[in-house]
Formats: sequence, C-alpha cells, structure tokens
Amino acid sequence: MNDWRLQGQEKYLKGVTLQKKTYKQFRDGWDHDHCEFCGAKFTENTPGTLHEGYTTQNNYHWICDPCFTDFNELFEWKVIFV
Ligand SMILES: [Zn+2]
Repeated sequence: MNDWRLQGQEKYLKGVTLQKKTYKQFRDGWDHDHCEFCGAKFTENTPGTLHEGYTTQNNYHWICDPCFTDFNELFEWKVIFV
C-alpha cells in the first residue's frame, strides 16, 4: 500500500488495541492531538476539529475515523467498544 499518510506508524501501531473514545486532553497544557496518519486535529471543544476517534489504551495516539477505516486491515487493530 502506497499512501502519503503511511510514515512508519507500524513500528508502534501495528496490532495494538484501540478504543473508540471521546477526546480528552492528555494532561493540563496539552489540549489537542493530531491523527497519527492524516494529522487531523482532536480537541475537547474547539469547533471544526474532531471530538472523538480511536485511541491507544494509554490515550497517547489518536486515529480519526477515515484513517481507521482505511488502515484497519493493514494494521490488524483490535478494537474495544466501551
Ligand atoms: Zn486521520
């Protein structure tokens, strides 16, 4: 697969377990994150940004819906629905 969004994420995202969640700020002063693939912005409240997506269990990496759909098969993610 040749896609501009793929930049070696398999090193830390291949086969990991993801949860679909509402975005929560990681800690004080860290008020947004970006999709690991396309760079789409996640925030809690800012209009025009994403407010939910798929995240690793430590809430550190975020993946938007379209990128999840596009790369789910390639990365063999396990998804927990809560
Ligand atoms: Zn994305």
